[in-house]
Amino acid sequence: MELLSFSAMFRELARVQSNFRKPPAHCTVKEFQVSMPNCVNPRERESMLQDRYSFTNVSQSAPSRFLRHFSPLLLALLSCLVLALAASAGQLTTPQDGPNRLELSYTLEMERPSTHLLQVEISVAKVEVPVLRFAMPVWAPGRYAIYDFAKNVQEFTVVGANGQALPWVQPDKQTWAVNTSDCGGTVKVLYKVFANDLTGSFSQFDTSHGAINGASVFMYLPGNKPDPLTLTIHPPHGWKIVSGFSMSPSQTTFQVPNYDVLIDTPLEIGPDCWVKDFEEDGKTFRVAVHSYPDQDGDADNRSALVEGLKKIVHSEMAMMPAPDFNHYTFLFHFDPGLPMGDGMEHLNSTDIIVHGKLSDSGLSQALETAAHEFFHLWNVKRLRPTGLGPFDYSREAYTRSLWFVEGITTYYSYVNLLRSGIWSQQEFLDRLAGEVRALREAPGRRLMSAESSSFHAWFFDRSPQMQETNFANTTISYYNKGALLGTLLDLKIRSATRGEKSLDDVMRLMYRKFYSSPAASYYLRGRGYTEKDILDAVNQVSGTGFTPFFQQYVAGTVPLPYNEVLAKAGLAVLVATSSQAPPSLGVLVEPVDTGVRIFAVQPGGAADRAGLSRDDVLISVDDQSLATESLADRLSIYTAGAKVPFEVERHENRLFITVQLDPPRPDEYSITELPGATDEQVKIRQGWLNASQQGPAQSSPAEAAAGRFRNPTSF
Ligand SMILES: [Zn+2]
Ligand SMILES: [Zn+2]
Repeated sequence: MELLSFSAMFRELARVQSNFRKPPAHCTVKEFQVSMPNCVNPRERESMLQDRYSFTNVSQSAPSRFLRHFSPLLLALLSCLVLALAASAGQLTTPQDGPNRLELSYTLEMERPSTHLLQVEISVAKVEVPVLRFAMPVWAPGRYAIYDFAKNVQEFTVVGANGQALPWVQPDKQTWAVNTSDCGGTVKVLYKVFANDLTGSFSQFDTSHGAINGASVFMYLPGNKPDPLTLTIHPPHGWKIVSGFSMSPSQTTFQVPNYDVLIDTPLEIGPDCWVKDFEEDGKTFRVAVHSYPDQDGDADNRSALVEGLKKIVHSEMAMMPAPDFNHYTFLFHFDPGLPMGDGMEHLNSTDIIVHGKLSDSGLSQALETAAHEFFHLWNVKRLRPTGLGPFDYSREAYTRSLWFVEGITTYYSYVNLLRSGIWSQQEFLDRLAGEVRALREAPGRRLMSAESSSFHAWFFDRSPQMQETNFANTTISYYNKGALLGTLLDLKIRSATRGEKSLDDVMRLMYRKFYSSPAASYYLRGRGYTEKDILDAVNQVSGTGFTPFFQQYVAGTVPLPYNEVLAKAGLAVLVATSSQAPPSLGVLVEPVDTGVRIFAVQPGGAADRAGLSRDDVLISVDDQSLATESLADRLSIYTAGAKVPFEVERHENRLFITVQLDPPRPDEYSITELPGATDEQVKIRQGWLNASQQGPAQSSPAEAAAGRFRNPTSF
């Protein structure tokens, strides 16, 4: 997915947090008993069940709020009923992916764009079981967050072969269980989905387009995800369909091998999509652009976009084995009105949403995101950790390897922007220096490892936050640290092999070993890898032992040995403090009307020692308003160690807190050449930085915008 700057992510988290209230008071269930015949209409049964609850220790007064709060319990109870119903017939559909294939036909109706309501019909033939379950995913691969796409499902109905209504219940919030005893062999489910989010995870249907991410729209049948299906789309008149399913924009019916592929193929359906094809290494690549508004200057930059993509595709295809598809689609949206951009990897397409205009900064953002998402077609869409395919869409899929999935992909997006000539060596080194700075300025680097950050992604990968968190001080980005680990691994392997091998060889070895091998399930080729498999591959390619490296820097929080490793290429990270750097206050702030609001206090920093707190609004410093002058400018007039009085608004009261300022924080990070480098150091450096034509795929077979919100500012 897209590389979102970590600070921007925290800013977004803080914004989202403010939209949620505290959870309701604690309640306990006193008693309930259930005994009713299965012939009761499901809706009546649900009503009867609700009537049988009684509660104690409830502080709320409205009865309807009881039921809302206890909906998980109610749903669990209903689940038991459904299971009992099915088990009594002895033919319960198994939750595992089993051999009982069904004939599945999905239809997407797009009748009224102004309502944002998509209508889905799922027709199931040859039904021989007494219960069929239909479920909405709670998450979509590529974004490690529980989104509960069922939230936007409405007007669910289901009929049998003769149009007769069939009874159904919801055993949980994302599943609809249909009693098919009298269906006549055919079940037809109909529902609507509200869709008005243009992101890499959700869908949007409006008068400008349908931008469809399948997990947010299409239900699956647990136990039947492997079954092939047909998708038919009825777009509004004059709208065309662009997707990885087909190169023909007029094709409206698609044969899809299974549900996983259905939701791994985003759809752009609209009247205004600009499309251009090009060829590379025997494959066809398509660039589709939808811009808001239709911008002056787009035409020139659309050409520049295509030319840049050609270079990226050429560079990454030269590095990795040829992928197993005939065509690949880049779907772009450019919209300066969005809150933030996004990017999402898919099997043979990518969905890139740029917060900005193609006619200005949007071009470089688009190319950088494309270099990242295109590399994902190898790293995670095919070469994948165990747990990431086949997917369990009903709950979190944990992996400790997102530092490899996302961080190494980030590293190779930089490498290939360099190799393709889109970036200069200086731009490449500057970006890596920026990554060094980002990790150095993250207090969480002392608490959270790269593996732990990967495992806990479900807490902070654009997840809605139901309570205040201290993530700004306790977490790190697996994109950021993973990219730095990639840098260090690459240079250490190059050094250990005297320039003969590199991390490229690790990627190719793993791809062949885990993807280009017999399929372990219905899902794609090959099998998933474990964390130890990464270590083994690095050891094999380098011919040395990387166990301590992985223990300290991947599984541990030992500071990364930048200069020890960069020295192997005659390079070093230089850290300096500019003369303009203000003394450090040790806070992250954002502007508000009356001053600046603190949304994170750095542990042990000047503000922390003085007792400043999250949510304090700094009104003035030394009687100088912070509403009209920046905090950085105000702090710049003091020297380190100065005791400075801040007027602070806290809980609608004003108070004064004096802070003794710390020395300025380093603000200049660079990677530069060491004088007097040996021939061997120069060889490693040149092999790393001049690798534009290096390492073809041998003989083997075949995320961007900083957002509307300004990044939080650190002082
Ligand atoms: Zn990614
Ligand atoms: Zn569009």
